[in-house]
Amino acid sequence: MVNLLDFDVDGLVAWFAERGEKPFRARQVMRWMHREGCDDFERMTDVAKSLRAKLALDACIRAPEPLRDSLSADGTRKWLLDVGNGNAVETVFIPETGRGTLCVSSQAGCALDCAFCSTGKQGFNRNLTAGEIIGQLWLANRLLGAAREASPDLEAGEKDNGRIISNVVMMGMGEPLANFDNVVTALRLMLDDHAYGLSRRRVTVSTSGIVPAMDRLRDECPVALAVSLHASNDALRDRLVPINQKYPLAELMAACRRYLERAPRDFVTFEYVMLDGVNDQDVHARELLALVRDVPCKFNLIPFNPFPNSGFRRSPAERIRRFAGILIDAGIVTTTRKTRGDDVDAACGQLAGQVQDKTRRTVRIVKPMEARP
Ligand code: SAH
Ligand code: SF4
Repeated sequence: MVNLLDFDVDGLVAWFAERGEKPFRARQVMRWMHREGCDDFERMTDVAKSLRAKLALDACIRAPEPLRDSLSADGTRKWLLDVGNGNAVETVFIPETGRGTLCVSSQAGCALDCAFCSTGKQGFNRNLTAGEIIGQLWLANRLLGAAREASPDLEAGEKDNGRIISNVVMMGMGEPLANFDNVVTALRLMLDDHAYGLSRRRVTVSTSGIVPAMDRLRDECPVALAVSLHASNDALRDRLVPINQKYPLAELMAACRRYLERAPRDFVTFEYVMLDGVNDQDVHARELLALVRDVPCKFNLIPFNPFPNSGFRRSPAERIRRFAGILIDAGIVTTTRKTRGDDVDAACGQLAGQVQDKTRRTVRIVKPMEARP
């Protein structure tokens, strides 16, 4: 059974061509699948009946099954998704005024083993397929759409633009550039007008700095780029982000500059997790200023989100303010990421895809999963 979620538009056109079907048919099916969230060929009413019957025989439209749906007190919603063989990944929806961001996973686990990351601590299980990656957006759209239809108190405008998810960040579990082909197929769908039609500026890939893959992304599918920096010198970064031993800071900065030649935005976002007493001193901030001198950038400081036995503590708020102040005084736009959804372990670095129930704090299951009529 071929899962049609695995194809981008060109891929689906080619698959249709092998079966003697015209390109416009592929695009029709594409729109039903991604714009309408339809997984039933019979409901694709403007597609020829004979083709619908043929598709039903050897194709399906299948996203990962949700195992758990948790709603944080701040409105952040997290889904735990079954990707088979006891593996699960997480997807997080973060509503904000004027936009809704979906944080998408690219791998079950991660091989890169950053010292402060709970996904890294669980090791690497496998790459997600393109269908499992885009399936997260497909599913979130469906589930959020269903919730929206069920709540009459939303503004009319919010209801009919159909765009609850305006931004996607590849910041869930896994290193997206270590699963390059499948991630790019999914990115193409996010951008394609026949599918989700998101602007390149609103789709962000976050990488720990796999330099050759950054160059490929620039050439094949440039979207907004976030780089997980986390340290101001190689000695410290070698420890915190081990991939630095392979692609050290000078090479990473050069790759950022090359990326910006083709990027939809004219800056790179550097993510910097604030670890108490480790990378959060004034001297680190000043070292950063020298490091990024030639790279147009913004900084996003992420207060460390703890998990059991991490061995790190979050920097105190006052320390983060001072650190940010040094960057801001030097003219670098610097924001501190609000911790969202940490009551349901949905905050950055807390995604572990746990299937067993821990002793939960404020989790409540929103409602049993149900297909939309
Ligand atoms: N693998 C990619 C994307 C996923 S992680 C990457 O590393 O960029 C998304 C962001 O969360 C990264 O910047 C990551 O370093 C950060 N992060 C990981 N663990 C964290 C933790 N415990 N607290 C806060 N941020 C964390
Ligand atoms: Fe992997 Fe990113 Fe976690 Fe590092 S921070 S272990 S690259 S998911």
